[in-house]
Amino acid sequence: MMSSSKLDTSVAYLKGVGPRKGDLLGKELQIYTLRDLLFHFPFRYVDRTKFYRIGDLTAHHDQVQLKGVLRGLQVVGSGRKKRMTGRLRDESGVIDLVWFKGLYWLEKHLQIGMEYVVFGRVNAFQGRLSVPHPEMEAATDVSVRQAATLSPVYPSTEKLASHGLDARGQRKLIKQVLQIVGPDDIPETLPASVLSAYRFPGRAEALRGIHFPRDTAEMQSAINRLKFEELFFLQLRLLRLRNTRRAAARSFVFDKVGDYFLNFFHHHLPFALTNAQKRVIKEVRRDLGSGCQMNRLLQGDVGSGKTIVALMCMLIAIDNGYQACLLAPTEILARQHFDGLAGYLEKMNLQVGLLTGSIKGKSRRHLLEALKAGEINILVGTHAVLEDPVVFQNLGLAITDEQHRFGVKQRARLWKKSREFPPHVLVMTATPIPRTLAMTLYGDLDVSVIDELPPGRKPVQTLHWFESQRARVHGFMREQIALGRQVYVVYPLIEESEALDLQNLEEGFVALQRAFPMPDYQISIVHGRMKAEDKDFEMKRFVEGKTQIMVATTVIEVGVNVPNASVMVIENAERFGLSQLHQLRGRVGRGADQSFCILMSGNKLSNEGKERLQTMVRTTDGFEIAEADLRLRGPGDIEGTRQSGLVQLRLADLAKDGTILQAARKLASEILREDPGLNREAFLPVRRHMTKLDKQAKGWSRIS
Ligand code: ADP
Ligand code: MG
Repeated sequence: MMSSSKLDTSVAYLKGVGPRKGDLLGKELQIYTLRDLLFHFPFRYVDRTKFYRIGDLTAHHDQVQLKGVLRGLQVVGSGRKKRMTGRLRDESGVIDLVWFKGLYWLEKHLQIGMEYVVFGRVNAFQGRLSVPHPEMEAATDVSVRQAATLSPVYPSTEKLASHGLDARGQRKLIKQVLQIVGPDDIPETLPASVLSAYRFPGRAEALRGIHFPRDTAEMQSAINRLKFEELFFLQLRLLRLRNTRRAAARSFVFDKVGDYFLNFFHHHLPFALTNAQKRVIKEVRRDLGSGCQMNRLLQGDVGSGKTIVALMCMLIAIDNGYQACLLAPTEILARQHFDGLAGYLEKMNLQVGLLTGSIKGKSRRHLLEALKAGEINILVGTHAVLEDPVVFQNLGLAITDEQHRFGVKQRARLWKKSREFPPHVLVMTATPIPRTLAMTLYGDLDVSVIDELPPGRKPVQTLHWFESQRARVHGFMREQIALGRQVYVVYPLIEESEALDLQNLEEGFVALQRAFPMPDYQISIVHGRMKAEDKDFEMKRFVEGKTQIMVATTVIEVGVNVPNASVMVIENAERFGLSQLHQLRGRVGRGADQSFCILMSGNKLSNEGKERLQTMVRTTDGFEIAEADLRLRGPGDIEGTRQSGLVQLRLADLAKDGTILQAARKLASEILREDPGLNREAFLPVRRHMTKLDKQAKGWSRIS
C-alpha cells in the first residue's frame, strides 16, 4: 500500500526496529510512524564537549559524561536482586557502574577493556559513588565522534532501555529518519515573511536543529521556531472558531443606551467607576450592539466590582426592551446579589425578582407570572431559573457569576429560554487566569479584565504562623472579636482524605468551642456533608452577625460577602493551592477595617508549599498569584485545562513562553483579518497545514 507521505511509514520499517520493537515504541512512547519519531523531541541536551575526571566526582555531581575503559563486568545476585556491575577507569580514578535491567542485551554488547563514553547520574550510597544505568557508547563509535556539542536526551523507560531503545537508541532512530526524509517530506508551514521577520529556520532545518543542533544558538532558534509554529496554529484554530461562532450566532441588537442606563449612571451610581470598570462596560456595549451574540468572559479579582458592571450591562438590555437575568451558584450568593441589586436600584422604577429553590408556593407562582408577563426586568437566581416552568417574556442577556460551577448543558438550557435568538452571555469569574492561559483556554471567547481595585481598599495583611503559635492566634482572634469583628476559620477538605479532614475540622471546632466558650461567643460550622438547609441556616447566622466565628471547609470559597469579617484563619494552609488561598483571602478585606489573613502550617513544609505561602504573604495581586501558580504547578493542573486540549502542547510551555504566544496570536489574528479564507499565495503553506490539522482534530472542547 502506498502511503500519502513517507512520514506515515511505520517505524517498524526502520533498520534495527522490526515489529516487536515497533510495538514497544507505540506502547511506551506513542510512536508509530516516522513522523511521530521526528516530533519526539528531546526534553534536554547534554553538553558533550565536556568530560568529567572520575577522580573529581563527588556526590554533588548530577548528570555527567565520562570517558574511560570498562573493567570487571560481572553479574551478581539472583532473582529480583540480580544486577550487573562494572567499573570505569580513567587516568584520575575508578567508578562503579550498575545495571538492574536489560542484562542480557548488555552482556552481548559491552566489551571489557574497550574505551567508552559514559553518560549518567552520579549516585552516592554509603559514601561510595556509582553511576546507575549509564548510557554507554563505544568511544570509537562514529556517532560519538561526530556528535554535536549538544546531545539530545529523550525520555526512556527501563523497558525501552532493555530493548536498546534508551536515549541513545532513540537518537540513532531519529538520525535514520532524518536521513530518509528530505525537505519535500517536511513542507514549510509558515509564510516566508514570518520566517524572515523572526529569522526562523525553515521547518525541515528546525526539525534537524532541534534533534541535532551544532550549537546552542541553533538549538534555540530551532526550538523557538517550532514553539511558534505550535502556538500559531493553535491560535489560528481558536480564532477561526471564534469567528465562525460569531458569524453563526446572531443575536439581538442592543444599540442604544437609554433612560435607565443614563439615569443610573448620572444619578444613582454610588461611587465613581474605576477605569477598568468603564472599559469593560464599553467592551460589552460594543458586543451588544454588534448583532452577534456576545460570549464574553469577565475576569476580575474578588472585590474588583463586577456586580455594578453586571448591573449596568443589564440596564442596556432593559433600555432596549428586554429582560436580563443573573445566575449565582448558591442560594446565599443569589440572595446577596438580589439584595445588592435591589439596593442599587432602590430609586429606579425597575422590578428585580429572586428565584431560588426555597421560593415556593404562591410567591413562586406570582413571580413566574410576572416574569412571563414581562413585569420583572431582572431575575436573580440559582439553578432553579433553568427549570422548565420558568418562562421569560423576552430574555436578552444572561449573566452568570462564577462560571465554573455551571455546566455547559445548563447554560444551553438557559439559551433556550430566549425567543428568537440565544441571549447575550456574560460569564463572570473571580479566578484570575494568567493571560497566556486565558488566550488559549478561552481563546475562542472574548475576554474582559477588571485589573484595578476600587480606590481606598486596604490590602489584607497576610501572616504565616506555625502550629506552635496557636495561643497567639486565639489571642488575636479575641482582640478582633472584641472590636466587633468576625472571624473565619477554614479547614482543607479533599476527597481523598475526606474522613480524616472532617475529623480535623470537628476537632478544631471542639477546640475552638473550648477556647471561645458560650455564651460570650457563638460559633457557626459549615461543611460539605451537611444538609443544604443546615448550611444555609449556619451561614445566615454568620452573615447576620449572630455568630462571631465561622468554622468551615472551602464551601465559603464562593463569594459570600460579610464586610464585617476581618480575619481569615486558614488551617493547614500548605495543603491549599494558590488560587484557593487567594479566593479564601478575598472573603475578608471587604469593609473599611484593616483585615488579616493568617496562614497556619506545621513546621515541616515542602519547598513548593513554602513558596506558595511566601507568595501569599508577599502579594495580594490575583494575577501575580495566578502566574506563580502556573509556574509552580504547570498548566496541566490548573482548573479547566485538562479538557481543553492544552496538555497536547508538545513543546511550548504556557508558563514560560508568553512572549512567543503573544507574537503567534498577533500574527494569527492579523492573517485572519487580512485573508480569512487563507487564499493568498503567501498563506498557502499555512492553509495546507491547517487542512491537515483539521483532519486530525477531534474532540475540541470549548467552554461555551
Ligand atoms: P466582586 O467583583 O468581587 O463581585 P463586588 O461587585 O461585590 O466585587 O464589589 C465589591 C465592593 O466594592 C462592593 O462593596 C462595591 O460596592 C464596591 N465597589 C465596586 N466598584 C466600586 C468603585 N468603583 N468604587 C468604590 N467602590 C466600589
Ligand atoms: Mg461578586
